[in-house]
Amino acid sequence: MVRAKSVLSEARQIEIASELIRLDARLQVLEAEVQLSRERLLRLYREIRGKSPPKGMLPFSTDWFMTWQPNVHASLFMNIHRHQVGLDDATAVEALIRAYRLYREQIGQLGLPEVLSITRAWRLTRFFDAGMLGMTACTCCGGQFVTHTFELAHQYVCGLCHMPSRAGKTRRPANAEVAKAAPR
Ligand SMILES: [Zn+2]
Repeated sequence: MVRAKSVLSEARQIEIASELIRLDARLQVLEAEVQLSRERLLRLYREIRGKSPPKGMLPFSTDWFMTWQPNVHASLFMNIHRHQVGLDDATAVEALIRAYRLYREQIGQLGLPEVLSITRAWRLTRFFDAGMLGMTACTCCGGQFVTHTFELAHQYVCGLCHMPSRAGKTRRPANAEVAKAAPR
C-alpha cells in the first residue's frame, strides 16, 4: 500500500508543478514547492511551454513591493491570500495557486495589467513567512497594505490615498476600482 500512496502523491506533485508552470512560475518556485527532481521538472516545463525555462537568479528584493503600483497589486493579492490560508486544509502552495488565480480574475475584471507575476507572488508570501513584510492598515482609508514589518503603523498612509503626482493623472480611475475591490 505504501507504494500506491507514493504514486498518488507523485501524481499530485506533477499536477501542482503543471499548474505552476501554466501560471508562468519560474523553475526556482517549482524546486522550492514540489518534491520532483530537477530533470523531471525541466521535462515537464518543456512539455507544457514548449521551451526551456529562463535561466538566472530571481532578482527580487522587498523594495520592489514598496514601489507604488506593485504595492497596490501586492496588497490586493495578500488580502486575497489571507482569506485562502486557513479556509481549509490547503497546503501553502495550494493556497498560493488559488489566491493567484483569484488575483488574476479581479485584475482581469478591472481591466488592469497583471503587475504581479506568480513568481513574485510566491516571493511575497516567503517574505511574509520570514517576517520581513507584513500588513499595515492605512490611517486614511483603513485598507490593509503590504509594508516593511517595522513601518510606523500610527502614521501609515497607503499609495491610493497618497498617490505620487506622476501616477495620479492617468491612473486615478483604475485605482479607485482597485481600492473598492480590495477586501478590508
Ligand atoms: Zn489608504
